[in-house]
Amino acid sequence: MKKPSFYQSRRDFLAASSALTMGALGGCATPRKSAVAPGFVDAHVHIWTPDTAAYPLAPGVQPSAMQPPSFTAEECLTLVRAHGVSRVVLIQMSFYRYDNRYMLDAMRRYPGVFAGVGIVDGTAPRPQDAMRALARQGVRGFRIHPGSQTVDAWLAAPGQAEMWQCAGDDGLALCPLVGPNALPGIAAMCAKYPRTRVVLDHFARIGVDGQFHEADLAALGALAKFPHVHVKASAFYAFGQKRAPYLDFGPMIRRLRDTFGAQRLMWASDCPYQIQRGHTYADSVALIRDRLDFLSASDRDWMLRGTAEKVFFT
Ligand SMILES: [Zn+2]
Repeated sequence: MKKPSFYQSRRDFLAASSALTMGALGGCATPRKSAVAPGFVDAHVHIWTPDTAAYPLAPGVQPSAMQPPSFTAEECLTLVRAHGVSRVVLIQMSFYRYDNRYMLDAMRRYPGVFAGVGIVDGTAPRPQDAMRALARQGVRGFRIHPGSQTVDAWLAAPGQAEMWQCAGDDGLALCPLVGPNALPGIAAMCAKYPRTRVVLDHFARIGVDGQFHEADLAALGALAKFPHVHVKASAFYAFGQKRAPYLDFGPMIRRLRDTFGAQRLMWASDCPYQIQRGHTYADSVALIRDRLDFLSASDRDWMLRGTAEKVFFT
């Protein structure tokens, strides 16, 4: 017999509360739209369109870099909705560099469905102005990464200081795409900007060489003392054995749950990359929803919905 999963009971609960609300309203014909969407949140997806006339690729980017050639907002929604995901955090695609329009337009077309993490030029003067202009259009976070610089040079640049300050002042998130070597530098920034929300992409890329090294896990765990640091449990196709059902992530996820708490972990697929070379969306969701027995129903709910909702949708 199929065991009812926690989200089915959550859906039942929401249906029951909605019925109660309607009852309380005396059978009002138009129930108010629930403030709580019942589905999961995928905290990291990239979208792009083959329409490069309307949305040109950044200089130097060839159309052949777009693999798959198309992953539009609509293709994304068709995929994720089939797996119980109702909201998605869009991560500005590097093909478009600092032109965030395709993401912004998708957010406008599907209000409340997409949140956005933008990219601004952190080396330009006053990057906080670009951050605030995007925040006015609903962007809630900014992707940062060292590029070709060393981690030390990157984090010491004036633009980074301004971005970390702005994010802390305005309640925006910074989302470092870094490897474990950058974690001590990120920790120093967290100490200097304690109000700034941080969401580390893809387990800080631990396990990219196939091994979840103890020293790397310790460096990531050292960030748990900063209450505004979150970790994306994501891109399972890219780390460890790189093979579904991805059970080799279990010890790392358990350790992160124990150090950060599930309230600071968020699941994400990193689509469309998760759905290539034999990997599937179903296997990504299933690792957190159904597998890993040490996760409680509450842990699963935080990781699949609550944490990303708190950081990107409220
Ligand atoms: Zn990504």
